[in-house]
Amino acid sequence: MSNPKHTRPKGTQDFVPPRAEQKSKVEDVFRHLAERFGFQEIVIPTFEYTDVFVKSSGTGSDIVTKEMYTFKDRADRSLTLRPEGTGGVVRAVLENRLRIPCRLYYLGPYFRYGRPQKGRFREFFQLGVEALGEASPLVDAETILFGDEFFRELGISDCITRLNSIGCRNCRPAYQHKLVEFLSSHKDRLCSECQLRLKHNPLRVFDCKQEQCQAVLKDAPKPGDYLCPECSRHFKAVQASLDKQGLRYELNGRLVRGLDYYNRTTFEFVSSKLGAQDSIGGGGRYDYLVEDFGGPQTPAIGLAIGLERTMLAMGEKEQARRRLAFVVWMGDAELDEAQKVLARLRAQGIPAQMDYDAHRMKHQFKSADAAGASCCVIIGADELAKGVYSLKDLTTGRQIQVPVSELIGTVQKLIRAQSVATRR
Ligand SMILES: [Zn+2]
Ligand SMILES: [Zn+2]
Repeated sequence: MSNPKHTRPKGTQDFVPPRAEQKSKVEDVFRHLAERFGFQEIVIPTFEYTDVFVKSSGTGSDIVTKEMYTFKDRADRSLTLRPEGTGGVVRAVLENRLRIPCRLYYLGPYFRYGRPQKGRFREFFQLGVEALGEASPLVDAETILFGDEFFRELGISDCITRLNSIGCRNCRPAYQHKLVEFLSSHKDRLCSECQLRLKHNPLRVFDCKQEQCQAVLKDAPKPGDYLCPECSRHFKAVQASLDKQGLRYELNGRLVRGLDYYNRTTFEFVSSKLGAQDSIGGGGRYDYLVEDFGGPQTPAIGLAIGLERTMLAMGEKEQARRRLAFVVWMGDAELDEAQKVLARLRAQGIPAQMDYDAHRMKHQFKSADAAGASCCVIIGADELAKGVYSLKDLTTGRQIQVPVSELIGTVQKLIRAQSVATRR
């Protein structure tokens, strides 16, 4: 193959078929589920004034300090490609004066200048929900349930839910003090980055992937041990609700998550296919963010799902044949009839295609195979004389004759049977 003259930028991806189709399917499942849970779609810009994300992610966060695509426009305004979903949604809710409580969902591309790895890109796709104005711990449980149900609908059966509480503005200072005390006494064992985090944002040390730091953290005080009575009650109620609904979870005292705005409940979903470090989704409560944006005091909780990592967790499906019928014609005398059959198939909702350029049937069969069709409808002189078509199942190679009037029903049955056989 010749070398392409142009390549995509590092950290971006092309969704070529059939991966683009798989992406759409995941998005469809998400949309329908979100709507069943009462969320409504919101579509907002892919870039915002930089301040929006500095406010939401926090000045000292990795996102703000290292990962944002920030640029000046021609009028010297600082703009940033959105690195996360919540900041823009909160900005939009306030700017458009949406009635709170409101439940919103969104999906689309996000951008972070990180190190590209398996399932991690610089332009990546995220699916998220935000529930603004609901304070009850039962809403936390419902948000977690939503995520769990989403992954189960996609057939990801090895999904584990991790759960934690990181307290509130009342109980966190005392905890943070203990944590800084502890980490300072082990400072020499922390990586250089965590030594900085210790100064500016000690909770972030929990996000460090370095083994040396994780080793120190084993014995570190956990936020869950310092919850005030209100936070403790809230956390117990979240767990009780999940227990009642039969959702299994692991308590993980070290789950803090990398964004500044979280408080109380934090959670993430992990698939064993991706290794313990890599979550396929997660979220938490952010009861102060709307206020920080200048809005009224508003409790809120959100969940974001990484599309690429979700697709990895789903596993590569066996290359299924497409839901596609290919019409094969013998010669010019059959071309008109073939086109009529093509139109009839399409009118009945069956994706159908034919090769006009290949005049020999052998070549048309090759085209059908290359297109990934599941069957061929063959229009030949013999067939027309008998008032039948031949139908070839391309997965088994079996060929049968079908009366003209039964063609549509038979093709539909065949395509349906094949898509069931290859689904899991
Ligand atoms: Zn508290
Ligand atoms: Zn570290």
